[in-house]
Order: sequence, then C-alpha cells, then structure tokens
Amino acid sequence: MSDAETLFERIIAGELPSDVVYQDETTFAFRDINPQARVHVLVVPRKRYRNVAELADADPQLLADVIATAAKVAELEGISGTGYRVVFNTDQDAGQTVFHVHAHVLGGEQLGLFGR
Ligand code: IMP
Repeated sequence: MSDAETLFERIIAGELPSDVVYQDETTFAFRDINPQARVHVLVVPRKRYRNVAELADADPQLLADVIATAAKVAELEGISGTGYRVVFNTDQDAGQTVFHVHAHVLGGEQLGLFGR
C-alpha cells in the first residue's frame, strides 16, 4: 500500500472537518457526506488497512472493534431496534473509492435490496 495519507486519515486527524458520531481509542465514526439512507455513518479503524480482508488477516480484534462501533452507532442513532445494514465495499467491483477500510452503517428507513 502507498504511504500517501488517505482522506480518512486526514479526517481522523482533524485536518479535514467531519460530523463525528462516536470515537474511541481504536475507531472513529462520522456521517457520510453523500448519505444513501436517512442514517449513513462510516466507521473506520484509526489504523489504516486497505480493505476488510487485509484488516481481518492482520488484526481480527480491530475488525471486531469496528463491528462493535457499528453496533454502538446504531444505538446512538436510535436504529438498533428497527434494524440496519453494515457494508464493507471491497475493491473494484464493489465500487470502493477510499482505500482505508470503512464500514457503512445504513438505516433509519426500509432499505432496498442488494445488487444492481
Ligand atoms: P466507498 O465507496 O465504500 O469507498 O465509500 C466511500 C464513502 O466515503 C462514500 O460513501 C462517500 O460519500 C464518503 N465520503 C467521501 N468523502 C467524504 C468526506 O469528506 N466526508 C464524509 N464522507 C465522505
């Protein structure tokens, strides 16, 4: 992976603004700038891995932290009772655009089906 800073590292560092929903020692959660549902929050590990596969290989505990933060975000956003979706877009065919692994937490309304 290139050492170039990704957008999300700059957001985590506070160099770029974001609407923070939750943060702790290992993870950082903020609203997506282009929401695809009423609730659309991104959860990123502070440490950068390219995608969820690299994260799972290198640091399963950190992946667990990301999932736990996604559940925490759902609670904070008041959607844990009605349901939500957690998505990791992974590489080209999934349309991943930022190569700092992130979970999309989507909810607050009835979500559409997967696929095209
Ligand atoms: P990906 O397509 O899974 O890589 O998701 C990247 C997400 O980052 C997209 O949903 C974008 O809308 C979101 N995004 C891009 N730039 C920003 C930003 O500056 N703040 C918050 N979200 C962003």
